[in-house]
This record gives sequence, C-alpha cells and structure tokens, in this order.
Amino acid sequence: MKLIEFDSKYFLYKEIDNIGFGVTTANSEFGIHPKLENYDKNIKFIKEKFNLSDIFVVSQIHSDIVIECDKNFTLGLEGDGLIIREINRGIGVFTADCVPIFLFDSKKRIASVLHSGWKGTYNEIVVKAIDIFVKKYHSDVNDIVIYIGPHIKVCCYEVGEELKYKFNNHHRFQKNANIFNKNNLSLLECIKTSVLACNIPIYNLNVVDYCVHCSKDVKFYSYRNDPNSLNRIFSFIFIK
Ligand SMILES: [Zn+2]
Repeated sequence: MKLIEFDSKYFLYKEIDNIGFGVTTANSEFGIHPKLENYDKNIKFIKEKFNLSDIFVVSQIHSDIVIECDKNFTLGLEGDGLIIREINRGIGVFTADCVPIFLFDSKKRIASVLHSGWKGTYNEIVVKAIDIFVKKYHSDVNDIVIYIGPHIKVCCYEVGEELKYKFNNHHRFQKNANIFNKNNLSLLECIKTSVLACNIPIYNLNVVDYCVHCSKDVKFYSYRNDPNSLNRIFSFIFIK
C-alpha cells in the first residue's frame, strides 16, 4: 500500500482492478471512532475523497460475525466484519492493535473488511468471511485476494500465560511453530494458518508490513501506546 495525502491527512491506499482499500494513519491527527465528536466530519471527508456514497460500519464486539451490507443492513448491527457487493459504497472497521483484514474477489465483485483482534483471530473470523465468498457467492479460492493491514506485530505483542496456552492448543494454530516468539504472539501467523487452511494460495496473501506499536516512518494509533485514547485506525474497502 502506498502513502497518499489529502489536505495533510495521510492514508495507506491501494487499488487493484475494481477494488480500492485504505487505512488511515496517525501521521496527522486523524483518529476515527463513533464516540469521537469529529466522527461524522471525518467519515464525510473519506467519502468525499474516495468518491463514496456511503460508508457502512458495525458495532464491533470482538466476535466472528460477518455482516452483509444488503437491503437488510441497518446501523448498529453487532459484528466484526462486513461484506459489500455494490459499487462506490465503502465498508470499514476500527482498530488499534487489532488486525484489519481486507478480502476481495474482483471477478465476482465482492469485498470484505474484518476486525480481527485476538478473539476474532482465535475464532477465525477470516474463515467465516472466506466461507461466505466461497459458499454463497461461489468465489474460486484462487481469485480471493487478502491483505493483512497494520496491527501490533510479534515484535511488540507480549501476552500472558493463559492466552499463550489457549493459542498453543488451538486445533489449527498448534501445528504452526511460528505463532510465538517467547511470550510474543504473532496474530499474523495465526491468520496465515487460517487462510491457508481454506486453500487460498499463499501468493494471494499479502501483508502490509507495519507494526502499529513501533512503526516510526508511518505512525498509527495503538491501544498499548495509549490505552485511554478513543483514536482508532479506520480501514475501509470499496468496489469501484
Ligand atoms: Zn512492534
């Protein structure tokens, strides 16, 4: 993803075929969260700059629920992932340390974005989204492209013994020797394991290689850096 700028606000952004996806940064003050008073203004700014008629979000609860933005969609639905098939309508998730995951099939014109913290990663929300692509919309796994966005990486994500035990005994992750470096958990390795188990080719899996906790050149909001702040990274995707 490339760093782009609008009115001194910096985004990581990429376009592939008919899909556009972006991540806000903290290089300038641009935290986004529904409870912040500039929320509507900031969402409007993103809509204008990326030419979107709407941006849909869900009320995030660290679940493995993926919600489709169809005619039944209403504001306030609880979940941690969204799927969109209509053009120029964005979907987005809020993160600070947790992993934003982008998925799309540009042939079938389906796009998704997920919030995958340790709970969503443990419960494999990414598998739930891939299942919808494949089972409901008949995506070929060879056409599903995944980008794992900026999150707290193994360098900085130390966890307690209880969580370590839980992940080391996960039915899928226990087979991957790289999910821990001492007591530091790699959510990325866990998500990779889940994605590859769905037969997505490894070359379709891309990593936006920033740790939100220690990245110096591009800055991000990190819960562990500032637990009292509501500022969040906003990761969004749309079909053009
Ligand atoms: Zn780090």
